[in-house]
Amino acid sequence: MLYYSLNHQSSKVTFAEAAVRGQAPDKGLYFPEHIPQLPEGLIKNIRSYSKEELGFIVMKPYVGESIPDDVLQQIVAETINFDFPLVKVTDNIYSLELFHGPTLAFKDVGARFMSRCLGYFNRHAYHHTTLLVATSGDTGGAVANGFLAVDGVEVIILYPSGKVSPIQELQLTTCGQNITALEVQGNFDDCQAIVKQAFMDADLTGKLSLTSANSINVARWLPQQLYYFFAYQQWQRHEPPVICVPSGNFGNICAGLVAHLSGLPVKHFIAACNANDAVPQFFKTGNYQSKQAVATISNAMDVGNPSNFVRILEMFNHELPALQNVLSSYSIDDATTAATIKNVYEQHNYMLDPHGAVAYYALNEYLQQHTNDNGIFLETAHPVKFPDTVEEATNTRIPFPESVQYLKGKEKKSILMPASFEDFKEWLMKR
Ligand SMILES: *Cc1c(COP(=O)(O)O)cnc(C)c1O
Repeated sequence: MLYYSLNHQSSKVTFAEAAVRGQAPDKGLYFPEHIPQLPEGLIKNIRSYSKEELGFIVMKPYVGESIPDDVLQQIVAETINFDFPLVKVTDNIYSLELFHGPTLAFKDVGARFMSRCLGYFNRHAYHHTTLLVATSGDTGGAVANGFLAVDGVEVIILYPSGKVSPIQELQLTTCGQNITALEVQGNFDDCQAIVKQAFMDADLTGKLSLTSANSINVARWLPQQLYYFFAYQQWQRHEPPVICVPSGNFGNICAGLVAHLSGLPVKHFIAACNANDAVPQFFKTGNYQSKQAVATISNAMDVGNPSNFVRILEMFNHELPALQNVLSSYSIDDATTAATIKNVYEQHNYMLDPHGAVAYYALNEYLQQHTNDNGIFLETAHPVKFPDTVEEATNTRIPFPESVQYLKGKEKKSILMPASFEDFKEWLMKR
């Protein structure tokens, strides 16, 4: 399997090269030359496969010869060594809980897969890679945890001081080893701007081999397909589900669409957005306009110009009607999101996080119009990571889950940094 750049100016590369580079030299996103079809009988007998077997079968064609089978089996097994339960919330709505990984967020799967792939590609430690990540909270934790102790990779996380929740901050700042947390005195956009500028700075790129772990990397993007297969393994109904995905950069839903095009039965997809509505507006007007991100209570989806949307357009030959047959998109505001957390808790005794709430509401809207359908929404983070919003909406205290109790005794270690590229550069050059 080779990957081409969506800007069509760079040459085709293997999975290994695409994963190491992140982005093509022409700044395009990498895309697989073709979408492989699932082996015959896989869907019919899907329950007879373990999730490790399924994960290997799905990922193998994308990885191709870049990783030997036994290593890929090991990588897949380590990537998905936790549960992905499908939980019934109402008569026609189910929650696919993707928050049972080590950092309580769905990004664990992509980060774990990518880190282990890079670890393998770097196995002779010929060179040393510096990975820069700007985070509003969730990505940083998953990346820190995924890359902890991976040889030859140093991880530098920039997070906005005072703007991540207590659990998120502990996840970012207590790893030690090859993980360094920079506490930036600014907002997420400042962190992101510093990282972007670093990649364009000749002194830094001359001295260090810089790479990023954001969701455009094929090694982070493609393994997210597995959620959709695990959902289908647990789906008991005859008709395929409608699947609703809380979307920011559109990597997750784009992976779901790939799974579907390879043969996974899904009745319809919904991309649920918060007030950042570039894609819902595009579906309404046929006109795509990127926007400045606005801050919301589902902050991991505060993206004004979703990078993976071009991949979705590519899959549907840039034809909006063809895309609309498969995908709908909704924008949900903060007041509705908070009310949804409250209502679903009171009426169904199920605690949503703000991202899951956006998806729940969009799915419910859709199902009001399609009364014979049943749906799954992806619950992408544990509510305890957004305690202010969720505790206020539900009027309860969320207990600290057992799996992250260990964080409580740990000491936060971060380096305070002004929101200035020059300060960052000086610090990084001196290391
Ligand atoms: C990153 C994130 C999203 C958005 O996922 P994309 O792949 O960027 O669309 C949704 N929910 C949570 C909790 C996230 O961390």
